[in-house]
Amino acid sequence: MKAKKPNEISVLLGYAGKYKALTFLGMFLSAAAMVMGMIPYVCIWLAARDLIAAAPDWTEATNIGTYGWAAFGFAFGGIVIYFAALMCTHLAAFRTAANIRKQGVAQMMKAPLGFFDNYGSGYLRNRLDGGASETETLLAHNLADIVGTAAMFIAMIVLMFVFDWRMGLSCLFAAVISVLAMFSMMGGKNANLMMEYQTAQDVMSKAGTEYVRGIPVVKVFQQTVYSFKAFKAAIEDYSNKAEKYTGGVCRVPQSVNLTATEGVFIFLVPVVLLIAPSALSAGNFAGFITNFAFYAVFSAIVSTALARIMFAASGLMLAKTALARIDTVMNAPTLEITNNPQTPKDNGVEFRDVTFTYDGAETPALEHVSFKALPGQTVALVGPSGGGKTTAASLIPRFWDVSSGSVTVGGVNVKDVDPHVLMDKVAFVFQNTRLFKTSILENVRAARPTAAREEVISALHAAQCDDIIEKLPNGIDTLIGSEGTYLSGGEQQRVALARAIIKDAPIIVLDEATAFADPENEALIQKALKTLTEGRTVIMIAHRLSTVVGADKIVVLDNGHVAEEGTHDELSHAGGLYERMWKEYNQAVTWKIASVKESA
Ligand code: ADP
Repeated sequence: MKAKKPNEISVLLGYAGKYKALTFLGMFLSAAAMVMGMIPYVCIWLAARDLIAAAPDWTEATNIGTYGWAAFGFAFGGIVIYFAALMCTHLAAFRTAANIRKQGVAQMMKAPLGFFDNYGSGYLRNRLDGGASETETLLAHNLADIVGTAAMFIAMIVLMFVFDWRMGLSCLFAAVISVLAMFSMMGGKNANLMMEYQTAQDVMSKAGTEYVRGIPVVKVFQQTVYSFKAFKAAIEDYSNKAEKYTGGVCRVPQSVNLTATEGVFIFLVPVVLLIAPSALSAGNFAGFITNFAFYAVFSAIVSTALARIMFAASGLMLAKTALARIDTVMNAPTLEITNNPQTPKDNGVEFRDVTFTYDGAETPALEHVSFKALPGQTVALVGPSGGGKTTAASLIPRFWDVSSGSVTVGGVNVKDVDPHVLMDKVAFVFQNTRLFKTSILENVRAARPTAAREEVISALHAAQCDDIIEKLPNGIDTLIGSEGTYLSGGEQQRVALARAIIKDAPIIVLDEATAFADPENEALIQKALKTLTEGRTVIMIAHRLSTVVGADKIVVLDNGHVAEEGTHDELSHAGGLYERMWKEYNQAVTWKIASVKESA
């Protein structure tokens, strides 16, 4: 049997934790305030009754003042209690949003690093932080109003029997029509149309942001607005969906809803006209007029209550989409953490029959991959694009965990190593290495917070960053990203290399493309690499075969399989994929040299 999905309110209250009670208190106070707010209408009824009974000698109606004060007291009390209700619900809503953020961050801390590569931190922040704020309206206002409105309807039914059930029924009838009209717009198959309409609105607003971001490109390349097809298509799609939903689905029900909401009085008048003759003949005309006066005034609050339901329904919808956004973070995979950590015996790395499939992918990115890097060895991963080099490298620092087989460090499965120990042992520099918006000093020191300033300077020197530091206004104290201080991709990666150097980890996982991002600085970067890799175990994703010639071992990955394995001397004459790649590489280099000579 399919498990029932918990509804949005219970999911949200789940996040509220101990503030759940405060939400319930707020809901109760809101109901109490709503009922108190109805008592002044009863006072009006009492005053009208006394006045009509005393007519025309109004001075006889001595209790009018009391009723007036009582009406004022209850109305004022209702406002005070509603204020208290909102205080409770707001406090609970802010705390719940804070809890959502805390739980989300806690969940992210448990997620594997690859999760952040897939989504990007900006996107995740937006999902969690934006989603959490969007739940506030529902918890702070809508829930209290839903309960208050329900209490009001119950009180209305009670009053219906206390005064005149026929007039009460006519007011209730208007409310029922309005509610039915609202549900016909939002329920059943129309719910899907409404969802499509809202999604189209979302897509359009995102495309709009992209459009604005892309304006500089349009200006530089003199492109016309037609280059922004996506935005235009999003507007057209939104326009179609909006017309389909608002024109096709909402036009009639919304008109009915608004008429019923705003015109409760219209339902009351015919009923009053119908029952007036019988009231006259029964000799109870005074009572009849009193009841009419009551309902005439009372009908106004029915409209208010219905408007609240409408807001509450949209608050629920908003909470639903907000929760879906939050789920991206809450459903993040969790990196298994061992209860019985073992210490790696040395700095070797081994892949034992590793198969790995990305979440949602149909074919494995790696299949039955085995190879070994002895402590201090440099192993180069080469092969065609998409062969699985990056995937293999990212399994060592546990960006992801293998689907089967094992990756071991110092003879211990990486899953059985304490994550902190693993992070101390492995430094990695991948292509998308990011720097923080802080000083160069702090960026490098992030890898080892206890590092002294001099150590940072010498790591930057070893990573060949001297020229970068020299041109910055405040040297290593310059904030990256501020006052127009931006580093090129290659420069950022050299700073990232310095970070890896200062970490002083015995195992390095490195994407060589990173190191060669600035071809003009190749010699400098070769030097930096030498410092980084000396005396360490290195797993290097190699793109330029010149760097792998000296490697202790080359592992050729093709289509997720190890196609060949050996040294450069062995493989360059083995008649396999590596030999072909080596020949192509040399040809390319020869062409390059020839073309340089020609142009010289
Ligand atoms: P290489 O580094 O050799 O170019 P990759 O390890 O990047 O190869 O890719 C191996 C395979 O895994 C490719 O088919 C690629 O499309 C797939 N792949 C890589 N990263 C992801 C990811 N984050 N999610 C799903 N599939 C991926």
